Amino acid sequence: MADVVSKKKRSQIMAAIKSKGNKATEIKLAGIFRQNIIVGWRRNFDLFGNPDFAFPKHRLAVFVDGCFWHGCPKHFRKPSDNRKYWHEKILRNQKRDQLVTKTLQSAGWRVLRIWEHSLRTSALVAQRIKSRLSADG
Ligand SMILES: [Zn+2]
Repeated sequence: MADVVSKKKRSQIMAAIKSKGNKATEIKLAGIFRQNIIVGWRRNFDLFGNPDFAFPKHRLAVFVDGCFWHGCPKHFRKPSDNRKYWHEKILRNQKRDQLVTKTLQSAGWRVLRIWEHSLRTSALVAQRIKSRLSADG
């Protein structure tokens, strides 16, 4: 896709995002797609912000946000050590999430962010994705 931010900025953001490491949640969501016969998704689709999944035809990008790394309002508890460090780190992650969402939206993509914890209610997640896909155009 066309560069929507400068190359330098893009590579900085990408480097930061690479460290998120949420393979287990990605695999879980892929399983939910299969169970619910949700098709048309791609993993590792080359798109700004590295969404966990993309539905290119529907221009829908799906991110699974880890409860800890992305500061889930229900589950995030600041570690007792280095509180300042963690506070700033999570805040940076959240700012980056917002930037990625805005950037994709301005490039004509829709963005769906799913909390890691909501993968436990897989039927609900499947429903959300399906309704986004059918609300197309
Ligand atoms: Zn959570």
